[in-house]
Amino acid sequence: MVYIKSKHEIDKMKEACRIANLAQKAVERAIRPGISTLELDKIAEATMRENGAIPAEKGYPSGMKGVPDFPGSICASINDNIIHGIPSKHAILLEGDIISVDLVAYKDGFNGDCARTYFVGNVSDRAKRLVDVTKQAFFEGIKYAKKGNRLGDISHAIGSFVEKNGYNVIKEFEGHGIGRQMHEEPGIPNYGKAGRGIRLEPGMTLAIEPMVVEKSPEICQGDDGWSIWTLDEGLSAHYENTILITEKEPEILTLL
Ligand code: MG
Repeated sequence: MVYIKSKHEIDKMKEACRIANLAQKAVERAIRPGISTLELDKIAEATMRENGAIPAEKGYPSGMKGVPDFPGSICASINDNIIHGIPSKHAILLEGDIISVDLVAYKDGFNGDCARTYFVGNVSDRAKRLVDVTKQAFFEGIKYAKKGNRLGDISHAIGSFVEKNGYNVIKEFEGHGIGRQMHEEPGIPNYGKAGRGIRLEPGMTLAIEPMVVEKSPEICQGDDGWSIWTLDEGLSAHYENTILITEKEPEILTLL
């Protein structure tokens, strides 16, 4: 079921989301050639803990036999790693890389979830355009995140914008409702038909997250059981915010 949050619950969501955004800002400031994704992980975790939150991704169950719970405080995914990259001291950022950082802060019973793709030093125009279109796709989508619209209106807006720009969305992973649980109903695909799906109501909190690749949308999984990569080694980008459906315009809780 889709939970409609009360005013009290929304206030708690806002606090978790505020801290998630703070952690992103701290990571962004630290990004430079030569830093490892494990160092970024520690910076994000410290920011969350200093603000009374914990990193919700740490210990997240894989649900797969033989695959350990997620060990990181963030997902740190470089270049053709689309999502769920495990932070590592061996994963060192290089000039020209792009890195997607997806993190969730949990505080006082609620989760705030956001992802950004950052540039490491000077990156190619090709990479810049991909990252820019991915971010824009989110904003195209939330134009439809309004009371009375349907979920498919958001999905369609994201997917069609991405395709119009010559890229592909990942279909195996999607956005989601969020609140007391990191992943709640509804699932929010980054493609679909307008006019389909549930009707949006004030008090719904949704994590909307285009995952976009420059070439083929075919994916493969890393040996760690977590990381997801483009099969053709094309670049990928990710942009996510937790939003609140209101009586009017949506509020972007992880950008406040
Ligand atoms: Mg996320």
